[in-house]
Amino acid sequence: MLEFHDVTVQFPGQATPAVDRVSLKIERGDCYGILGQSGAGKSTLVRTVNLLQVPTSGYVMVSGQKVDGSLSKGDLRSLRLKIGMIFQHFNLIKNASVFENVAFNLKASGADRATIEAKVPQLLAAVGLKGKEQVYPPSLSGGQKQRVAIARALANDPEILLCDEATSALDPDTTSEIVALLKQLKEERNLTVLFITHQMEVAKKLFNKVALMQRGKVVETASTYDFFARPQSPYGQLLVKQYQHDLLPDELWSNEPELYEIIYKLDHAFDSVMAEAMHRFEVDLNILGGRVEYIGGKPLGRLIISIARCPNAALKQEVLAFLAQSTYLTKLEAPKDAEA
Ligand code: ADP
Repeated sequence: MLEFHDVTVQFPGQATPAVDRVSLKIERGDCYGILGQSGAGKSTLVRTVNLLQVPTSGYVMVSGQKVDGSLSKGDLRSLRLKIGMIFQHFNLIKNASVFENVAFNLKASGADRATIEAKVPQLLAAVGLKGKEQVYPPSLSGGQKQRVAIARALANDPEILLCDEATSALDPDTTSEIVALLKQLKEERNLTVLFITHQMEVAKKLFNKVALMQRGKVVETASTYDFFARPQSPYGQLLVKQYQHDLLPDELWSNEPELYEIIYKLDHAFDSVMAEAMHRFEVDLNILGGRVEYIGGKPLGRLIISIARCPNAALKQEVLAFLAQSTYLTKLEAPKDAEA
């Protein structure tokens, strides 16, 4: 559906490429997330899909069509009709009504007045803004503005929706609403979504696959579940760890010098590993935090534990080895900021 082949973008005067030989394959129906800190090259990469940014080398394939600087104006126009895009700051026309904002993309594709009159209210109803046609953007909330932007992006029935930090300017509740709306629209309209974000929470809720970018390079690709359960790259491990740390109170670190995280492997979800370890080794395992998250409908159980009443280091190693047989076990380190 959407493939990046060795895409590089080098801006003049920059020491290193903003995007460095990126190859990725996004399948039809994916909700594919690109994660990474600010400046990693995510926006620049995504902008190559509709040639808002021409790659220095490499190319993108969209539905079997090669997209690079050699595309004719006509081909570029029809390519852009297949691709909707939404942004962090909505990019609405402030002094045009909601109706006119959504109609803008229909006019651009040559739709006649009757089509526009019929389609705009349908699009607004689909994003939960029925009857808001004559409102102007400044009197809308952030979430409503993004809904208008989504209606506008979907105006020409695109196959692909590109989302550039589309929830990053929204509060957590509104973010959840927009995530739910995007999920629903993706199903209803058979969209393929490519979404870039630095928000781990959005990744967990929305994406089925993720790619992780660092300094222009893709350093890891995985299903979202596998990424959160077992990140493979050092940078991925750092990000997931930092995300988990944010869920633990700071006091825990001063009171408990040695914390371990255990993640139940799927086939061992919530069995009696802990009870058995305590019984067998006569130690106490204290549960200090934990939760079960659902990623793509699959449970991912995490517990933060410490080991008490353990007389010596050798026994502790035995306990840890026992736990590691049926769980993924990691020793946690006190939080430090993930580097960009
Ligand atoms: P992200 O979306 O991950 O925050 P960007 O793609 O916006 O990252 O930026 C990647 C790098 O490219 C940054 O160092 C940024 O300063 C640089 N960059 C982005 N756009 C331009 C441009 N038009 N000209 C020069 N440098 C740019």
